[in-house]
Amino acid sequence: MLRIAIQSKGRLNEESLSLLQNIGIEVDAPKRKLLSKSQTFPIEALYLRDDDIPNVVQGGTATLGIVGLNEIEECGSDVNVLCRLGFGTCRLSLAIPKGEDYDGPAWFNGRRIATSYPNILRKYLESKNIDAKVEVITGSVEIAPAVGIADAIFDIVSSGSTLIANGLREVETVFESEAVLIANKHISPEDQVLIDDLLFRIDSETVSRGKKYLMMNLPNASLDEAIKILPAMRSPTVMPLATGDWCSLHSVIDAADLWTKVRQLKAIGAEGILVMDVDKIIL
Ligand code: ATP
Ligand code: MG
Repeated sequence: MLRIAIQSKGRLNEESLSLLQNIGIEVDAPKRKLLSKSQTFPIEALYLRDDDIPNVVQGGTATLGIVGLNEIEECGSDVNVLCRLGFGTCRLSLAIPKGEDYDGPAWFNGRRIATSYPNILRKYLESKNIDAKVEVITGSVEIAPAVGIADAIFDIVSSGSTLIANGLREVETVFESEAVLIANKHISPEDQVLIDDLLFRIDSETVSRGKKYLMMNLPNASLDEAIKILPAMRSPTVMPLATGDWCSLHSVIDAADLWTKVRQLKAIGAEGILVMDVDKIIL
């Protein structure tokens, strides 16, 4: 039986649980219990604060964990990162009051920087030969310059709107992060079989995320053009229609490209375009 540590509440909780659900693993939400055994896969979820996940996996209390790469880097935990999961995307950046002139990292010499990530920050400052004072605070880092605790901050940024709302300007990106699946370094052969199955399922989930299945009718004369527009996994599927010089064309595309591709396909005579969600792609 595997045990996977998951954030009990917070930014990674919902997407961690929906990832498990999408790969056929149902577990009860953390509201009910700290430990929840799945009825559909030999795994149980252990709900924890995200700060505790790297060490719990390193110590072996949980075999696996889902946590931000930033937490692993900060804790310096000795775990294996099995795969990136494509959510919880953010960065750790240095930000300064927006009115300040900024001439590069040397600006931070002699300044006080507030952060909840002192280890990543110190490593960065050392690498740039900067002598700054690191002020560790655990929450609301973004208000530190306004209340006089620090001259600058080092914090998590995603859209940047929190910085703007607090009169701050992002000046250096230090670390790029996303949620990852981590594992203890000592895995039994039986657990490894289960982990390989999980990784296979996560792989197909990651590949199919954000994909659309397209079907359309197309004049045969436009086929070469359409194949250039729709590269697909190998090449699009082409089937003749019962009447006329027309075919039916099927392909998988990135959802982000949908409207651009549809416009290009309409321009070469495509008709009756059907767009469908893709549940799974098994490569
Ligand atoms: P906990 O109570 O579990 O300690 P927390 O308050 O420390 O929670 P959250 O704010 O829930 O942490 O963030 C958890 C993780 O989500 C972060 O470590 C980071 O990897 C990622 N994350 C944080 N902020 C963002 C954001 N704005 N956008 C995307 N991902 C983020
Ligand atoms: Mg935390």
